Amino acid sequence: MKILALSDQVVEHLYSPLVKERFGDVDLVVGCGDLPDYYLDYIVSMLNVPLTLVPGNHDLPTPSPDAEGEGEGGGTPRACGNIDGMVVEERGLLLAGLGGSIRYRPDGVHQYTQGGMARRILALAPRLWWNRLRYGRFLDILVTHAPPRGIHDAEDPAHVGFEAFNRFIARYRPRYLLHGHAHVYRHDAITITQVGPTTVINVYPYRVIDIEGRHAG
Ligand SMILES: [Zn+2]
Repeated sequence: MKILALSDQVVEHLYSPLVKERFGDVDLVVGCGDLPDYYLDYIVSMLNVPLTLVPGNHDLPTPSPDAEGEGEGGGTPRACGNIDGMVVEERGLLLAGLGGSIRYRPDGVHQYTQGGMARRILALAPRLWWNRLRYGRFLDILVTHAPPRGIHDAEDPAHVGFEAFNRFIARYRPRYLLHGHAHVYRHDAITITQVGPTTVINVYPYRVIDIEGRHAG
């Protein structure tokens, strides 16, 4: 099972017919935020696989579920595949999505205080426990935009990571936390960090993750 995870930057050779040759064996595309719809739509239609995504701090507000014509028309972000604030099952994988970044502007969308993100996680707890009872594990992958605190994050107001994510991985022990938001400018920058059983990966601008088959039971 292969995941193509993307974030923050359009990569030219993915936004081309070459994507089918290079990534034709990918089973699922995961968007970790701050990417244009046309790019994600192109890649999933070329690969003919499902898309799950969370919004980044530069994405437009998510339309409410009862809005007419979800994701259609000028500039409206796609609602389809958006797992922000949800726990879902996709291709046998249990995923949770927590988009957005730390709040650094009072009027910013998809921005949360440390306490605000902790409350969003609390809201996921019943479904995570249901997974634990049903599947014997809370989840496989936490999909986020921002990183945990102290892991691939930075000290400037917009790039501080969420402490609640550190607590999440300690408590719910996903196999992966996939995030974006932390742009990588240096070749020696650390982009993969192991925290207990969880591999924290900064997917910027893209990364293929090969996950061994997982069966419910
Ligand atoms: Zn961001």
